[in-house]
Amino acid sequence: MSPTKPHKNINMSFKQLDLCAPLLQAITEQGYTKATPVQEQAIPVILQGRDLLAGAQTGTGKTAGFALPILQRLHHQERPTKPYPVRALILTPTRELAMQVHESFKIYGQHLPLFSEVVFGGVSTHAQIQRLQQGADILVATPGRLLDLLKQKQVDLSQVQFFVLDEADRMLDMGFILDIRKLISVLPKKRQNLLFSATYSQEIKTLAAQLLNNPVEVAIARENVAADTVSQSVYAIKKENKRELVSWLIGHHNWQQVLIFVRTKHGADRLSKQLIKDGLRCDALHGDKSQGARSRALENFKSGKIGVLIATDIAARGLDIDQLPHVINFDLPAQAEDYVHRIGRTGRAGMSGEAISLVDAEEAYLLDAVEKLLGKKIPRVADTGYATVSLEVINKPKAQPRQNQRQHRDQNGQKKQTASPRTRNRRPSSNKQPKV
Ligand code: AMP
Repeated sequence: MSPTKPHKNINMSFKQLDLCAPLLQAITEQGYTKATPVQEQAIPVILQGRDLLAGAQTGTGKTAGFALPILQRLHHQERPTKPYPVRALILTPTRELAMQVHESFKIYGQHLPLFSEVVFGGVSTHAQIQRLQQGADILVATPGRLLDLLKQKQVDLSQVQFFVLDEADRMLDMGFILDIRKLISVLPKKRQNLLFSATYSQEIKTLAAQLLNNPVEVAIARENVAADTVSQSVYAIKKENKRELVSWLIGHHNWQQVLIFVRTKHGADRLSKQLIKDGLRCDALHGDKSQGARSRALENFKSGKIGVLIATDIAARGLDIDQLPHVINFDLPAQAEDYVHRIGRTGRAGMSGEAISLVDAEEAYLLDAVEKLLGKKIPRVADTGYATVSLEVINKPKAQPRQNQRQHRDQNGQKKQTASPRTRNRRPSSNKQPKV
């Protein structure tokens, strides 16, 4: 594969991108004034009908980057009659991302006579099958459920012209490669393929080489998200002080919307219970929760009913929460790339945000990996209110292969903590403000 690189346009408005009036109207209603870099670069390529390999993560506006030109191209075709055949298929790794991408298609396509549907696992197939009866121009799906529906002959993919693999790296991490290959094998040979991935592992390169036909490559530097709009800091503290510090930070600063990342599902549940005892309104979001509970937690967080959402990396992947001001890494992720994904929840589309990482001595090697990836040191908070721990890397454990990541996360329980006092408005050990 030898991708060609397009011209880079600076601050292009949507009008210059040749989008049709109903799409421009929807964009205006969303309050977007300028296209983001990934939109500037991806939209013309997709409108030309070329395959695309895009290095872009959530928070860059990538969804509109593929949804707008796909909607436009579908609209310019004569619409088939009911039941509408699926002409655009978008695969996403998680249910949450599938719902968000589907919502985006609905919002951007609201002034067009096009229909989007979504299917994902964890809920009964019955309602999804019924909704698919009338057909859909666009189908957003997670791979496993789509394969189920295909086996049951409840969905027909023989008319697909646009195929999008969204967050392809995460799909491979989650072990979807065989499902993806099976799905690709039933698609028509002649189609336009778009692959979005935040990272380029050898596996992604191999998949891209097999899937894409002379693609244009668009790369949005990951530093864009991490560097410009997100202020990052590290609290070097002991594991047993982390929970109390989190409660204090949120209560003292009166933060209204905080997303906290933890490595394990078990850790998410336990921290959630502890913070509730501390008087915070919070919930946990992870893969062991039912779809209903996950949607409810997300809705409550978006609407402000709860101020704190505790999530694992996989559950939080791709969450689109507007203007999220604070992200706390309760523990650092096993993979450095996930740090960038995590803090990409804040400082989105030009908003400023704050990302705080609580790092204990055992995680020093993980911080080291993150800083190598970012190419810079993250400032340490000088006065954390607790005994500072050394973050010098002494024994670096052998890296986990990415395929084992999930298993590793599930098994990697944290040390039990003692019952928590109500600390909401109590400064841990000194009355000074933390200094960065
Ligand atoms: P995404 O990377 O697709 O998850 O999008 C991240 C966020 O950026 C979403 O909340 C979008 O609504 C928002 N967004 C997308 N495009 C633009 C734009 N051109 N201007 C402002 N916000 C945007």
